[in-house]
Amino acid sequence: MWTNFHCHTRYCDGKHTVNEITDEAVRLGLRAIGFSSHAPFLPKLPWCMVKDHFHTYLEEIRKADELHEGVEVYAGLEVDYIPDVIGPADFRNQLDFTIGSVHLIGGVPGTAMEIDGPHERFKTELARIYQNNFQEAARVYFDSTRRMIRDSRPDIIGHMDKIKIQNLHGQYFSENDTWWRNEIELTLMEIARHGCILEVNTRGIYQKKYPTTYPSPWVLERAHKLGIRVTISSDAHVKTDLVREFTTAAHVLLQAGYREIHILSAGKWISQRFNEQGLTG
Ligand SMILES: [Zn+2]
Ligand SMILES: [Zn+2]
Repeated sequence: MWTNFHCHTRYCDGKHTVNEITDEAVRLGLRAIGFSSHAPFLPKLPWCMVKDHFHTYLEEIRKADELHEGVEVYAGLEVDYIPDVIGPADFRNQLDFTIGSVHLIGGVPGTAMEIDGPHERFKTELARIYQNNFQEAARVYFDSTRRMIRDSRPDIIGHMDKIKIQNLHGQYFSENDTWWRNEIELTLMEIARHGCILEVNTRGIYQKKYPTTYPSPWVLERAHKLGIRVTISSDAHVKTDLVREFTTAAHVLLQAGYREIHILSAGKWISQRFNEQGLTG
């Protein structure tokens, strides 16, 4: 039995409806499912929810909760963070939880750079905006993540080191580089200071875009030493991805020293023991 608090729907770039996903969650025996479509914001982006649909999204989630026995259903959003434009705090009061994720760095769409889009586009934008200086772009990314934690305090930090997805064949950096380790350390310290939950996201593995979790196993070892709470999620965009590679994520967390993950239960974040097969509490 698992939980998953990172799941997209047809309201954004997901393929299935709230109901279809909740049915699947019941079939899989999930204890709780948290919906986290991409939050609406202007100018509208293709992967984000349309602003006018937000109300219906929330209603559909409440209805799914009423209709389904045996699974707790929660309303959340994966909210982009762009300083002075959008952040998790803008939506917090209407939701059970927020995920804060940085997908765009360096401003609003048009002048900004997408960290997890197609690699060819990333390369073009890296040349145009950062004169091919990956380190500079990554610093802006982590700096933006830290500012999000301070200013907007999401419940969950989404795919913390996802910009590494662009580091095909180690072309830009090694995770042993001092500057990269420093950025990770500073970001973890901010997470620890503000008590956010760090997500262990399996999407890179099952999409075969990155061989291990976001964040990497060594980052989770450090997070454990800093007393940072974690949760496991798949960032599912189709219902068949709801618990994909959870065994791998659990294994990574156990190796890092974790014995508990955090889940929403009766509306509150609680710790729960786990093994590679699921929650044990
Ligand atoms: Zn994301
Ligand atoms: Zn997502």
